[in-house]
Amino acid sequence: MILLDRVTKSYGKNAKPALNRVSLHVEPKEFVIIVGTSGAGKSTLLKLLTREEKPTSGKIVVGGIDYDTLKDKHVPLLRRKIGVVFQDFKLLPQRTVFENVAFALEIAGMTNREIRNTVPKVIDLVGLKGKEKQFPHQLSGGERQRVAIARAVVRQPKILIADEPTGNLDPRHSWDIVRLLEKINRYGTTVLLTTHNVEIVNRLKRRVITIDHGKITS
Ligand code: ADP
Repeated sequence: MILLDRVTKSYGKNAKPALNRVSLHVEPKEFVIIVGTSGAGKSTLLKLLTREEKPTSGKIVVGGIDYDTLKDKHVPLLRRKIGVVFQDFKLLPQRTVFENVAFALEIAGMTNREIRNTVPKVIDLVGLKGKEKQFPHQLSGGERQRVAIARAVVRQPKILIADEPTGNLDPRHSWDIVRLLEKINRYGTTVLLTTHNVEIVNRLKRRVITIDHGKITS
């Protein structure tokens, strides 16, 4: 569950708030699309959820964690609950598909055995079986985004944030990625998707949240 109660975020004392008294409730396992023009406040909202930014005022509770009382040392625990993928994939170029996904588990302190057991399952889930040894530059944009999604979900987060994941992809690959997000959602992960793609918004028939000038308008 994601709960925001009258959350305001200002980046400077005299700056116009990037988010202005925003309240939002997302149920577990929901699939929500967040839309809004550039500068509307979408990234700010996502950064507040991942605790990259702190609100100026208001309350945030995610998966039972109240951010008011969240200590810095517990932020990694929170991040385990939230997987994130970006428009530009952010893969490690010198590492293979397998290694990119494994990296998320290595830094979590998993044993090699656990990693060898877990990574192939997730690579299979995202439809990249057979590509384990390829490097990012040998993959299409859609395949790179699949690697990024595999890495984001390999620790089984409760929430997956997909910030413009189709922004660099052609329509066919965009749909493949959206279908993959739907599949991950069916397995029980809450998905927050930001997109500028009107066709995706219209065809998906999911709850749409519109942000405009730091306010949720619908
Ligand atoms: P979106 O993701 O919808 O494009 P953002 O959340 O990035 O919108 O930006 C909302 C507003 O906050 C914009 O006016 C932007 O200039 C401002 N902003 C975002 N990040 C920062 C920052 N780190 N410092 C100062 N202003 C920022």
